[in-house]
This record gives sequence, structure tokens and C-alpha cells, in this order.
Amino acid sequence: ETTLDIQQIRQDFPILHQEINGRPLVYFDNAATNQKPLAVINALTQYYEGYNANIHRGIHHLAEQATAAFEASRRAFQEFLNAKHWQEIIFTYGTTDGINLVAQTYGRQFLKEGDEIIISTMEHHSNIVPWQMLCEEKGCILKVIPVNDEGELLLDEYEKLLSERTKIVSCVHVSNSLGTINPVKTIIDKAHEVGAVVLIDGAQASSHLEIDVQALDADFYVLSAHKLYGPTGMGVLYGKKDILDAMPPYRGGGEMIKEVTFAKTTYNDIPYKFEAGTPNIADVVAVKTALEYMAGLGKENIAAHENDLLQYATEQLSELDGLRIIGQAKHKIGVISFVLDGIHHQDTGVILDQQGIAVRTGHHCTQPLMQRFGIAGTTRASFAVYNTRDEIDRLVVGLRRVQKMML
Ligand code: PMP
Repeated sequence: ETTLDIQQIRQDFPILHQEINGRPLVYFDNAATNQKPLAVINALTQYYEGYNANIHRGIHHLAEQATAAFEASRRAFQEFLNAKHWQEIIFTYGTTDGINLVAQTYGRQFLKEGDEIIISTMEHHSNIVPWQMLCEEKGCILKVIPVNDEGELLLDEYEKLLSERTKIVSCVHVSNSLGTINPVKTIIDKAHEVGAVVLIDGAQASSHLEIDVQALDADFYVLSAHKLYGPTGMGVLYGKKDILDAMPPYRGGGEMIKEVTFAKTTYNDIPYKFEAGTPNIADVVAVKTALEYMAGLGKENIAAHENDLLQYATEQLSELDGLRIIGQAKHKIGVISFVLDGIHHQDTGVILDQQGIAVRTGHHCTQPLMQRFGIAGTTRASFAVYNTRDEIDRLVVGLRRVQKMML
């Protein structure tokens, strides 16, 4: 049980207070994106109403104000991830963008034919496809860490894959499909023993776990603001300073240059070298409020509450005949994926929606993982700080109704 006042917290989220199909909304699609507290929505409005201006080059008051707020957000992420230097925080459009940036700059610069990249079976497509594109271009080889039936990585197999040919290991911190928390510190240490750099996909981890990139010794860490109670279209790439300095720029354009002539252009220092063009200023500014909101609740408290929901939901769902939970790792966040015997996940999703319950169905952008479990997809309920045990009871009733209608 939690020390947080969940009913009070629910008041901070305007979207929760509505009926869908005549029933109070139950929002269990938090792994896709979580909802935004009023403070974050207000921060967006205040920016546009009060100090919208393009940043960095402006001499006027509003430009200075916008620039200060933008850079304050960078410092907030430095603290959030415990990065050593503020220059190590690169603003991106999200996790997908961050991974592509690393593949297209670090990967293209430093990898050559025959080099190997290791990912895992439980990666989101955004941590598979950019590496496949790089492999195709450079003649590199992709290797994959297998998972066991509980949905945990097989570390012995990982060690066998590592060699001096391994140049990059890119692994998800927390699986969006199963909720598994991976032992990323071990994964990083083992990779460093063979001289590989490691990227950690923190899209799911960042709103549930404390992240300390220095303690992890991660070379790259990526996340999306929209999974942190913040706005869409904004994310962070953390990279170690020395590595970022050595990387070529990504997109060319304004802001990422020192001097441009038609003969030759010189590039700006990090982080600006990787931030071409006008960024997503409003969203960068507003996400700072989301970080403050989470800090105010306390990440440990949030995690404790979500863990309680996970335990309760696991118990309650296990009571249902013909329901099989996919992914029963020892270390999990509040994500439950399941299949119902004889019922397609899409039908499950539609019938739950008719009862005002929002879940996600399908492959969750992890098709190879679904193939590993021999299924086409799952129904996934994923929890955030504002969810309650009562809502889980609603899900159980909803699923009984699904079974009654479909079987
Ligand atoms: N990795 C994981 C583990 C994710 O859950 C997601 C989002 N579902 C992504 C990457 C991609 O994030 P985005 O769509 O915000 O770029």
C-alpha cells in the first residue's frame, strides 16, 4: 500500500474525469503514453501566452526568457539522470529519434564491415530497425540475446555473444510488452569488458525507476517525455561527453554550426551540434514541470504504488480461467500482458473499450518478442501513479464479460 493520496493525485489529471461509452474512464494504456497533470498543461499554455520566442539567437526579452526556460530544462534532465555535464543532455524528438541519432552518427562513423551489434529479443522496433539499417549499409552483423519463458534475458547466452567484434550493445531497460526490468548494469559492464559501447532504451524505465547514468556507466541513455507525464514530441539522448564530442553531427542546419561559408562549415559544440533547427521549445520547457511533479510525489512512492497494483492485478487476473500472463519476470514494473484462450486480443480490446476501459492490444511494436512466445499479440494493461485497485476490479469484471460474450 502507498503513502500517496491517490484520489488527490487523480484530481491533478483532468483527462481522467470523463465517461467513455457511459462508464467512468479506466486508463490502462500508460506504457503507450501516460496522462499529463494540469501543471504540465498549464506550463505549455503559459509558454505560448507569455514568452513564446525562438531561442538562443535572440537579443530581445522574450527570446532570453524562452532560452533560459529551455536551458533550465536541460539542467533538470542532467539532475534527473545524474549526468556529470549538462552538455551531455541532447534534446531529441523522443526515444526513436535518439536511437536513430546514435546509429546514424556513432554507428556510421565507427563501425565497419564484420563488426557486431547486440540487441535483445524484447526490443521495441525502434531499437531494432535503426540497427538493421546500419547493418545493411555497413555490412555489420546483428546478434540477439534470447529470453526465457518468464520473459527474462539469458545472461549466459549474452556473454557467449560478446567478443572483440562487438562494437555496440543496445538494450531496453524495461520491456514495454512484458514489464521486465533488465539487469542493465551487468549488461553494460560485460560489454565494456570487450570494449563495446552501450545504449540503454529507457523509454519505459524513466517514469518508474531511479536512473543514474553515472552509476550505470551507460554510454548512451534515451527516453521520451510523453512517458514521463510530459508532452509528446520531445525526448532526451544522454551520451558521455567524450563520445558525443567524437561523433559527427546528425542533421545539418541552423544552430548546429559555428561558422558557415560555401567553402566549409564548422560545427558547434555539444549539445548544440546535435540540435539542428528550431526545437520543440514549448514541450522542452513544459517537461521540466513534469519532472518536478514526479519529484514532488517521490519516485519511490510512485514505484511502490504501481508495484502494489501489479501484485493485486496479477492475483486477480490469475483467478480468471483461460487467462495466461505473458512475462512473469522476478523484476517487473506495472505492466501485465496476457492472452485469453480462444479470444482474439482485438475483440478483447473492443469489448473492454465498450466498458470504458482503455488497454492496448497487439504486438506492442515488439513483433520478434511475440514470435518468441508463439503469439500474434497480447492484451496489455499498464499502470501509472493515478490508477487504483478499484480500476483493476473493473478490468476483471470487464474481462469476465469479454469471455461471456466471446466463448
Ligand atoms: N522503446 C520502448 C521500450 C518503448 O516503450 C517505446 C514507446 N512505446 C519506444 C522505444 C519508442 O518511443 P517513442 O515512440 O516515444 O519514440
